Amino acid sequence: MAAGYLLKEAEYIDRPLSDDEMWSSFAYLFSSKSVNDTSYKYGFLKSILDNLYNTNDKLILDFDQLFLKFAEIYWNLVLKHHILQKKPGKLNRQSELEKALILGKEKYGIFEDIPFESLSNDMKKDICRRVKAKCKLNVVGALYADLGGLFYSFSRNEEWLQINPRMYEFVCKHKVAIEKLNYYEWAKFLERVNEDSVVDHLLSKIDESTLRTRSSLAYYRDILFREFESKCFYCGKPVTKKSVEVDHFIPWSFIKDDQIWNFVLACPECNNKKRDKLAQVDYLNKISDRNEILIERNTINRAEAAGRIKMIYNWAQKNGYNEIWTPKKVSV
Ligand SMILES: [Zn+2]
Repeated sequence: MAAGYLLKEAEYIDRPLSDDEMWSSFAYLFSSKSVNDTSYKYGFLKSILDNLYNTNDKLILDFDQLFLKFAEIYWNLVLKHHILQKKPGKLNRQSELEKALILGKEKYGIFEDIPFESLSNDMKKDICRRVKAKCKLNVVGALYADLGGLFYSFSRNEEWLQINPRMYEFVCKHKVAIEKLNYYEWAKFLERVNEDSVVDHLLSKIDESTLRTRSSLAYYRDILFREFESKCFYCGKPVTKKSVEVDHFIPWSFIKDDQIWNFVLACPECNNKKRDKLAQVDYLNKISDRNEILIERNTINRAEAAGRIKMIYNWAQKNGYNEIWTPKKVSV
């Protein structure tokens, strides 16, 4: 295959694939045969994995969705944690990505350690645009080629990526394992290019690069509070806007994304007890019905994603989320 990073567009190989073949494509990506002088491939794979449930019904993601996640991951790793993503050379100290982030930061006079979530929407959009312009040139084709042309089709000009349905199923089934392999190789790369003092808690820094603080979830709390009665989704206890918490119905540690169709309002007690577990299946039906209402009211505009919550619940179980939590009901 021609050098992948030069590709402007390509199509996934459309034929039946065995699990062995699909595992082999990831084994190659995570082997020493896959060459990297930046960490882009790992970051871009994370951007796809974190967006796995945000595709439309044709499994298409647009570059704005992908590079917004990519910009967020790298903003937090580079500017918040000061972790270099490229080995500093004599002429070229920083990667194009790092330069784009620093230019964005300087343009807005942003203080050093501000997390991405604290930027205004306009700033986020502008920084995403800068990162996309630099990074779409090589990373999309490079990851395509390293995965043997099996994972996705893409067009750099039209700015979309379409996941191969066979690989989609496979990746959903093995998401947690693939994510862990990706973090491991990424961390190994970062240990090589950074000083020892920077790389403590490296795996948590990578994993939590898109974790929002509780206060930034207030936006979702307000919508749900406005649209529904002020009761805990699980136990039915009345809650006030002050005391209520926003819970990821499918745990954040699995989904790695914040979408209204996965949020419910919970009392602190239920939120605290549920933690990283799935709720009993009755509540899956309840949130599914709730999402139907949000779709009807146009509160959710990507109906495809909202309709997928039952499948995601199953995939979470297949990925090791076996502990099912049942709340103590106060009333229905
Ligand atoms: Zn409760």
